[in-house]
Amino acid sequence: MNLRTVLGDVSVEQIDRVLPHEHLLCDFSPVTGDRNHIFNNPELAVRELGYMNADVPPAQGMQHAIVEVTLRDLGRDPEGMRRISRESGLHVVMGTGWYLEPYYPKEVYEVSAERHAAQMIQEIEEGVLAADGTRIRAGVIGEIGTHGGTLSPAEERVLRAAGRASNATGAAVTTHAFMYPTGVDQLSILEEEGVDPRRTAIGHVDTFLDHTYLTGLLKRGVYLQFDTCGREHLMPDSLRVEMLVRLIDEGWSDSLLISSDRCHMTDLKIRGGLGYSWAVGGFCDLLRAAGVAESVVDKLTRENPLRLLTGIDSARG
Ligand SMILES: [Zn+2]
Repeated sequence: MNLRTVLGDVSVEQIDRVLPHEHLLCDFSPVTGDRNHIFNNPELAVRELGYMNADVPPAQGMQHAIVEVTLRDLGRDPEGMRRISRESGLHVVMGTGWYLEPYYPKEVYEVSAERHAAQMIQEIEEGVLAADGTRIRAGVIGEIGTHGGTLSPAEERVLRAAGRASNATGAAVTTHAFMYPTGVDQLSILEEEGVDPRRTAIGHVDTFLDHTYLTGLLKRGVYLQFDTCGREHLMPDSLRVEMLVRLIDEGWSDSLLISSDRCHMTDLKIRGGLGYSWAVGGFCDLLRAAGVAESVVDKLTRENPLRLLTGIDSARG
């Protein structure tokens, strides 16, 4: 399939860089209690995406794409995303599913995996009803999360549903495996559901940079997402670069993704942060300085995320 965005399906030839794990509008504050985590201002988001285009100008006739992985339990706002896409010109892909246990509303516990899957399939194929009567379709499943090191029964049910929805629609599943090596258990559940590993990205793996963990996952065929680039308090970028270079040298360049998971007000350039451009801008300069070839940078920032999301190979001629 083409890239399914909030404004409709877009051919991969029209897309330049892809950030596969970001937030444009979200609110983590009900759980974190952190006002910096109230991140839901469409005007600011449009301005920030203007900085992204200025820092890393898209190639002629192309636009960048942002995969917006905010789910309903984080305050997903489909119409807000559509407005941001229209006003910024960037392509925005919306997620479907549920985030993770401390955020789940009561209804998540009351519904079977089958019912969760049916809802995800409906949001991908038909879409979410907007106030003007149009529909906004989801283009990815996730971020589907695990809280801490072990999947809870409800998280397992949601992940199984994500797998079934991926099988039914061809949409990719993107996960949240934060600070623990929970990608192993997440992948086992998805494998049990028969999900294609090339439609699966294990997220936040750069918060647990263990070579044995990472290569164990890669050998099972999935994409690994280094998606907290620039968040030095979680992991210094120097260590992300070192691990990426090692994995690239070992032949894994077709299975690696990079992004920055912006979700705090102070992440924005307008508030003194690195903004959305860092992962495909300054961070790629660090990779280049470490000897990574431009063709590999292209894979990490464009070909790999587009192949994950659409199944289409889109190497530049
Ligand atoms: Zn996450």
